[in-house]
Amino acid sequence: MKEDAVIITVENLTKQYGSFTAVNGVSFTVKEGEIFGLLGPNGAGKSTTLEIMETLKPKTSGKVTIAGLDVDSHATDIKKIIGVQLQTSGFYPNLKLIELIDLFAGLYNQPVNATELLAQVQLTDKANSKFKELSGGQKQRFSIATTLINQPKIIFLDEPTTGLDPQARRNLWDLIRSIRQKGTTIIITTHYMDEAEVLCDRVAIMDAGKIIQLNTPDKLIDNLVETGFERPKEMKKANLEDVFIHLTGKQLRVDD
Ligand code: ADP
Ligand code: MG
Repeated sequence: MKEDAVIITVENLTKQYGSFTAVNGVSFTVKEGEIFGLLGPNGAGKSTTLEIMETLKPKTSGKVTIAGLDVDSHATDIKKIIGVQLQTSGFYPNLKLIELIDLFAGLYNQPVNATELLAQVQLTDKANSKFKELSGGQKQRFSIATTLINQPKIIFLDEPTTGLDPQARRNLWDLIRSIRQKGTTIIITTHYMDEAEVLCDRVAIMDAGKIIQLNTPDKLIDNLVETGFERPKEMKKANLEDVFIHLTGKQLRVDD
């Protein structure tokens, strides 16, 4: 991994749905090997921005390059080097995990070691379970596994931890870190700020189609504190989530 090498550039990106502007002149770069977070309220334009980078949606204007390839002219080449997480509703519920992996490998025309892939996401003992039999956390881990089949340079994860319990969420953070450890660049959206803080190297905060801040979580927090901001009341040394994790443990559950 080259230090600070840019792998994605987005310049003045705009997306209009009819007369409505969902993404309004957004520019940013993503560095090779980083975990880059897109944050913002519902409707901010995060998924639209992601889908344009994934070549799944046409843009209205602006320029987007993925590993030096322009989304306008090289969509097919881009698809070969990226991994896109499907909504978990997109999997055939009655197929076994091992069958689903074979199906994807066929679609990508890519040989894949299914056992190794399942081990990477801690689903070895579920290889012969049907997708519908998995818990929420397991489904998310499996859908992340499918993004890795074509050994992509970049993966896109749109709210991968939404709806998961605190343990399953932490388990997914470990998985995401382990994928990055291998040199994969990760673009992630999340509504959990604690998650963005521990996981992301840099975050862009979007609102109403624009990026209003982009920096490391640390720097964004320092900038706010410098304005004189203080939390309204003294925080306790732990919160209810700490209690939950302390009482129920961090380790992976049989059914999470
Ligand atoms: P986010 O992921 O940040 O919640 P989206 O990118 O999904 O935001 O949506 C941004 C805005 O664009 C929202 O107001 C949404 O309703 C609108 N939008 C998204 N997809 C479509 C579409 N296919 N047609 C019309 N409007 C859309
Ligand atoms: Mg979205």
